[in-house]
Parts: sequence; C-alpha cells; structure tokens
Amino acid sequence: MQFEVTILGSNSAIPAFNRYPSAQILNYHGNHFLIDCGEGTQFRMNTFGVKRGRLDNIFISHLHGDHYFGLIGLLTSFNLNWREHLLNIYGPPELEDIINVHFRHSQTKLRYAIHFHPLHADEPRIVYDDGMLSVETIILEHRLPTTGFLFREKKNLRKIIPEKITEHNIPYEAINGIKRGGDFTTAAGTIIPNSELTLSPPKPSSYAYCSDTIYTESYLEQIKGVDLLYHEATFIEEHAFRAAETFHCTTKEAARIAQKAGAAKLLIGHFSARYEDLDFLLNESREVFSETYIAEEGKTFSVDHHAGVVSKHPVQH
Ligand SMILES: [Zn+2]
Repeated sequence: MQFEVTILGSNSAIPAFNRYPSAQILNYHGNHFLIDCGEGTQFRMNTFGVKRGRLDNIFISHLHGDHYFGLIGLLTSFNLNWREHLLNIYGPPELEDIINVHFRHSQTKLRYAIHFHPLHADEPRIVYDDGMLSVETIILEHRLPTTGFLFREKKNLRKIIPEKITEHNIPYEAINGIKRGGDFTTAAGTIIPNSELTLSPPKPSSYAYCSDTIYTESYLEQIKGVDLLYHEATFIEEHAFRAAETFHCTTKEAARIAQKAGAAKLLIGHFSARYEDLDFLLNESREVFSETYIAEEGKTFSVDHHAGVVSKHPVQH
C-alpha cells in the first residue's frame, strides 16, 4: 500500500536558501500525480529519483508563475524522451493557451497527446476518478482563480476472513461479490451472511493540498478529517499584514485550519524567501497544532494513516 507525497519544492515566489518553488509528487500505488510544477521541478525529480514514466496526471493550482513555470520544460523533455502515452493536465482554462503558444512558436509537434481538463474555481468538482482514487477541487481565495486538490481513496472492499473460504468451500468466482458486501449461498442452499465472512474495510485515506489562499473557512467542511493536510504558511505571525495584503496565510492560520478541520497531520509550505530558518515557522504553527511538519524538499510523507511513520529522510545528494 503506497499513498505518500514527496516534496519537490516548498518556497513561494523567489527560489531561496536552496528551496525551490511549489511542486509535489503524490504516489498512489505506483501511479504518480504531479501537483504544481514550479521552475526547477525537473531538476528536483532528477535529484530525488522520481520516475517520470509513471506520471500521467499533472494538476496546476493557479497561474502565478511559481506554480507552473517548470511545466513547458517538463513537457518538452517528455517529448525528447520519446513519450508516446497520453498526458492529462488539469489547470485553469488559460493554461491551455499558454502551453499551445510555446509549442506553436517553437514549431514543436509533440509525439504524445495532451488531454487538457479546464478547472473552474467556482465550486468543488470531482475532476479525476479511476475507481480507486478520486481528486476533487477545493476552491481557494487568492488574487487569481485558484483551486486546491483533495485526493481521496475510494471506499475499500471488505476483508474476507481466509478460514471462511475453506470452511464454506467458497469458489474463487464468489470472492469479489463477498468483498463487495454480498452473502454466500452454499451448495446445500444455506445462506451465510456477509457479516460472518468478512471484516470491515480499513478507513480510506485522504490528502488535501491547499496553496495559495488567504485565511478562509469556506472549505473546512470539505476537508474534514483529512489524514494529511498541506497548507500554505507563507508568513510568520509578525508579518500577518503582508499575508492579508497578498492573499496568503500565516503559520498560525494554517494551523487553525488543520485544527478546525480535524486533520491528523499538517504540512506547512510555500515559504517566503525572507525566512532562512524554518524552525521558527514550525514552532509558531505547533503552538496551535502540534502535529505540524515542515514540507521539507526531498522528504516523503505518508498519507496512509495505517503507516504510522510520518516521513522518510530526504534523499542524500
Ligand atoms: Zn499565488
């Protein structure tokens, strides 16, 4: 079971202190989802060993450059690396023009197809669903139309008790139906209720990505009980006036969202280039929400609440 997120970039507008602009890779059972694609995302992928062949879906939150300036380079590299399979890009409607204008003027004809999915920042919508995992937009309040993303595992199947298979001589073909909640009828015609054959499935896990936004409680209900919440915390409390001016959040505002949403864990990121020491930001946030962690580049955080472990160490490079 793999449901984890690796941080590729966690800074805001200007790269600083070896921190890159926003980008993350979400890995769900080996399928990679790229969330935002700031400048330098390809370099971070190389450094942290992210396999690009497994990346078929890219989500862009909004059109401030620190969230997508790495995209054209990445799309071009896919082409040079002979990618042939379909790529899905989800982002603000204008992003399609931005992509097309680059390739038109460089006279590039891509070997692979791009399916562009325009995202409208008016109400939450499910924009991806593969039967195992769904992605829903979160409407954020920023200077441009902006959507966050809620990655939610679908309801798991019930767990069949192995001994019951032998006990009732359950054929292979019947297993799936029982996992979906069905009863089993034996050859003699006895009905064995599902509750005797299965155990409750594990609770599905979820990950919410919220960047960029001013403090608002408008999406609290939507992200209620999320296992891992990434929330921007661009500024420290002392600079709250800058946060309000630029439609961003402070450390404690991010923590309050996590607390009010009942999130299990909070990752803060999108740090202003004015801060070198992130421990200060971490401590401020932890005063309100103790389960706060820094979205440190190269670190992988588990979304699966059964995993127990919060993060793996950054890749050494
Ligand atoms: Zn922005």
